Amino acid sequence: MTEEVKRVYAFGKDAQGNNVTEGNTSMKAVLGGKGANLAEMANIGLPVPPGFTISCQTCMEYANAGNVWPEGVLDTIQEYREDLEARMGKKIGEASDPLLVSVRSGAPLSMPGMMDTVLNLGLNDESIKGLIAQTENPRFAWDSYRRFIQMFSSVVMGLDSDLFENAITAMKNARGVATDTDLTAEDLQELVVEFKQIFTENVPASDYASLVSDGTVRFPQDPSVQLQLAIEAVFGSWNNPRATLYRKQNKIADDLGTAVNVQSMVFGNKGNTSATGVAFTRNPATGEKEFYGDYLVNAQGEDVVAGIRNTSPIADLKHVEGLEEAGTELEEVFVTLENHFRDMCDIEFTIEQGKLWMLQTRVGKRTAASALHIAIEMEKEGLITKKEAVMRVDPEQLDQLLHPQFDKHANYDVVAKGLNASPGAAVGEAMFSAADAVATTEAGRKCVLVRWETNPDDLAGMIAAEGILTSHGGKTSHAAVIARGMGTPCVCGAEMLKIDAEKKEAAIAGTDIVIREGDMISIDGTSGCVVLGAVELVLPELTGDLDTILEWADEFRTMGVRANADNPEDAELSRGFGAEGIGLCRTEHMFLGDRKQIIQSFILNEEPSIRQKALDELLEAQTGDFYGMFKAMDGLPVIVRLLDPPLHEFLDSPRELDVEITRMVCEGAPAADIAEKRALLSQVDAMAEVNPMLGLRGCRLAILYPELPAMQVRAIAMAAARLQKEGLHPEPEIMIPLVSVLPELETLRGEAEEVLVQVASEEGVELNIPIGTMIELPRAAVTADEIATKADFFSFGTNDLTQTAFGFSRDDVESKFVPRYLERRILPFNPFETVDPGVAMLVDIACQKGRATNPDITLGVCGEHGGDPDSVKTFHKIGLTYVSCSPYRVPLARLAAGQAALAETMGDARDK
Ligand code: ADP
Ligand code: MG
Ligand code: MG
Repeated sequence: MTEEVKRVYAFGKDAQGNNVTEGNTSMKAVLGGKGANLAEMANIGLPVPPGFTISCQTCMEYANAGNVWPEGVLDTIQEYREDLEARMGKKIGEASDPLLVSVRSGAPLSMPGMMDTVLNLGLNDESIKGLIAQTENPRFAWDSYRRFIQMFSSVVMGLDSDLFENAITAMKNARGVATDTDLTAEDLQELVVEFKQIFTENVPASDYASLVSDGTVRFPQDPSVQLQLAIEAVFGSWNNPRATLYRKQNKIADDLGTAVNVQSMVFGNKGNTSATGVAFTRNPATGEKEFYGDYLVNAQGEDVVAGIRNTSPIADLKHVEGLEEAGTELEEVFVTLENHFRDMCDIEFTIEQGKLWMLQTRVGKRTAASALHIAIEMEKEGLITKKEAVMRVDPEQLDQLLHPQFDKHANYDVVAKGLNASPGAAVGEAMFSAADAVATTEAGRKCVLVRWETNPDDLAGMIAAEGILTSHGGKTSHAAVIARGMGTPCVCGAEMLKIDAEKKEAAIAGTDIVIREGDMISIDGTSGCVVLGAVELVLPELTGDLDTILEWADEFRTMGVRANADNPEDAELSRGFGAEGIGLCRTEHMFLGDRKQIIQSFILNEEPSIRQKALDELLEAQTGDFYGMFKAMDGLPVIVRLLDPPLHEFLDSPRELDVEITRMVCEGAPAADIAEKRALLSQVDAMAEVNPMLGLRGCRLAILYPELPAMQVRAIAMAAARLQKEGLHPEPEIMIPLVSVLPELETLRGEAEEVLVQVASEEGVELNIPIGTMIELPRAAVTADEIATKADFFSFGTNDLTQTAFGFSRDDVESKFVPRYLERRILPFNPFETVDPGVAMLVDIACQKGRATNPDITLGVCGEHGGDPDSVKTFHKIGLTYVSCSPYRVPLARLAAGQAALAETMGDARDK
C-alpha cells in the first residue's frame, strides 16, 4: 500500500443514494476484515447500513500513546460523524428522530467473538421519545434502550452482565411470564430505570470522574460521551486477555490493532416482518451446496448466536409471511457474494420491516471436510481453477480428518443427541467448567468440556479439552464456531442434557442417567452422539474428497514425501497415505522390551562368548525386523538409521539400582547377590555422562563398539537378500547418524561395505545398498562438501540440528523457557515445531556444498519438521528431494509440498 493510511473511512450511501464508500476488501490491514468487507459489499451494490470505519492504525496509535487520543483524531471522527448524520438525515441523540449507531470491532484477521460490540448507541432519556414517536412502537423503543444500557455497561464499563440478566429474570417472575418477549413496554421502561440504578451502584466513581454529577455516577446521556467511551472500549478490547490469548493461539501479531466500525442501526426487532440471522452460502461442516444458517423473527443481533431462543433454518425464511421478498433477495445475495469472492461466505443480516440489510460478510470458516468438498465443487463449477482448489485447503486443517472416529464395530448406547457441530470423536472425563478442564489436562488426563453454552471466557478450557459438549446453541453458536476453528470435536445443543454447573453434573431428561464430573464420556462431533463411557476409537482412511485434493496436489508437487516408521504396520499405514518410501527407520525401538536384556549383556560383559551370543540373538531379531519393513515398502526406499541414542538408555537407571541394593541389604539378601548388583551399579555409574545428548551416541557408539553396526548392516543385507530370493524388490539404504567429521563416515562406511560384500557373496545376490549420513550437527552442515564425498545421501535431522544450532536441549527447554520466549516474542514460534530460519540456512548451506562435490546426492529431511506445513514450504525453497514425517502427517506434507510448488508459480493465493 503506497497511499497514506487515513484515520477514518466512510462506507455506504449518501442522502442522494450515491455510494460514497472509501474502502474495499483489499484494505483489511487498515479497515479490519469487517470494515473492508462492509465497504466491498457497498461497492458491489448490496444494501449496507451507512457508517464509517476508524482504522486499525488509529487503534495502535492510541494504544501506543498509553490509551491517549492522538492530536486531531477526535476531530476527524467528529467530521465523519457529522457526515454520517447528513447522509442519514438524522442526528445521534436528537430528541425528535434520533440516529442510532452500533460500534463494532473488527480486526484484520477474523477473531470470532473475541471483541465486543455495542448496539443502539445514541439512546438517552430524550431520544427515546423520538424513537417511540417515529416507530409508534414503545415496546421496541424501550427494549432497545434497555439493551443499550446493558451492553454499554458490560462491554464499555466492564460490569457483569448477570446483574442485568438477574433483573430481567426477577421482572419475568414478578409478571409471571416465561420469555423476554412477553414483557410489556411498561415492564421494559421500568427495567430501564432499574438498569440505570445498577449502573450507578456498580460503576466506580473514581475511574469515571466525567460521569459523576451531584456526587453520583450516572449513565451518560450525552451521545458524544457514549460514542467516545464505546470507541475507547473497542480499542481497549484489542488487549483484553481473551483477545491476547486468541492471538497467541492463532499466531496473530499483537501490533495489528482493531478497527472500529460506527454504523447506523437497522432493527430486526420491530415486529413480525423484522428478523435477524447468520448464514453460510454453503454448509460449513460438510461443504454441501445449500444455504445454511439460522434466523430469528423479531430479534436483534446476538440473540441468534446466544442460543437464548430457538432459531429457524434459513431455508424457511422466504416462506414466512412478510419476509418472502427479503428472503428471496437474501438468496440472491448469497449467489452474488459467492461469485464475487469466489469462495464460501459467512453472512450476518437483519431484516427491518421487510427490508434486507447486510451487516457482515467474510470468507467463511469451515471444517476440513467442508474445505475439501467446497474446493472440489467450485473447481467443477468453474468458479476456481484446480490450482486454486489445491491452495484453498489448509494442510494443518487436514489433521481434523485424520482424527479418530467411533469404531463402527464398537458397542455403545447413545444417551443423548445434539447437533454435529465439529467433526471427529473425543473421549474423556466430563468437566463442567473451563478451569476444571484445564486442571484435568494439566494433570495429564483427557476431558470433555460440558457447558450450557460456551462464551469467550471458556477459551482456555476449550483448548484444553478433547471435545466440547453443550446443551444450548445452534451450529453457529460460540462453541460450534470456535471448535470448528480449532478442529476440536463438538456436539452442541444437546437439549436433553440438564446441566447443573454448580453441582458439576448433568441429568439426562426423561431418564435417570446423570453424568457426573470425572465420568468418562464419548462424543461424536460427526454424528452428534453422546455416550456415557469410553468408546473405542479408530482412525479413518484416505478416501473421497481428501484423496482427490491430494492427487491434485501431487500433480503440482515436485518434492517427494516419505514417512518415518519403524514397524511394518506404520509403514503400511504411511503407504496408504501416499508415502513414497521410508525416510527414517529408527532402530532403537527395536532394542526395547525383551531385547533390552540382550543388548545389556552385550554392553556389560567382557567375556567374548557372552557378547557374541548377544550379537547373534540381536542379528536374528533385527533381520526379522528389517524383513518386515522392506516387505511392507517393497519397491520403495527404506532408510535404516544405525543405532543412535546414548547407550545409557539401554541400561537400568542407577537410582533404581541403588534403591534395590538398599532393599536387598535390609532384607538380608545373600552377600554374593548384593556384590553383583553393586558391581553392576558401578559399571552403570562409570558410563554415566553429564550431558548424554552431547555424549556417546550416534556414530560415536558405532566407532567404539564396531560389532553393533556390523551386526545391523548384516541384518539389513540378509533381510534384503532373503526378499530378493523371494522375488521382491527391497530397497534398503543405510544411514549413519551424528557425523561431525569426514573420517567418522569414512571409517564406518568402509566397515559397512565390507559386511555388504561378505553377505552378497555368502548369499549369492547382488546388493546395491546406498550409504549416507544424517546432517544434524552444525559442523557437518558447514563441511558438507567434504562429507558428501563419502555420502550417497544426506538426511537432515532437524531436531538435533535445532538443538545443536541453538544449544537448546529440546526435552528441557520446550517445557521450561521456550514458552516464555514465545510469550515475550523473543522467538516468533517454537523452532522445534517450525524450522527456524537460522537452522534452515544451515540446511541450505549443506545442500549447496554437498551438491558441489557430489552432484548426484539425494537430499531429504527426517526431523519432525518434515510434517510441518510451513517448514515443508521452506524445504521446498531450499530444493530438497523429499521430506519425511510421521505417517499421519504424510497427507499434510503432500498438500503442503504441492502448495509450495504452486506458490512459486502463482503467488500465495490462499485467502487467509
Ligand atoms: P462480532 O464481531 O462479534 O460478530 P458484530 O460487530 O458483527 O460482532 O456485531 C454483532 C451483531 O450485532 C451483528 O451480528 C448484528 O446482528 C448486530 N449489529 C451490529 N451492527 C448492527 C447494526 N448497525 N444494525 C443492526 N444490528 C447490528
Ligand atoms: Mg459479526
Ligand atoms: Mg538425531
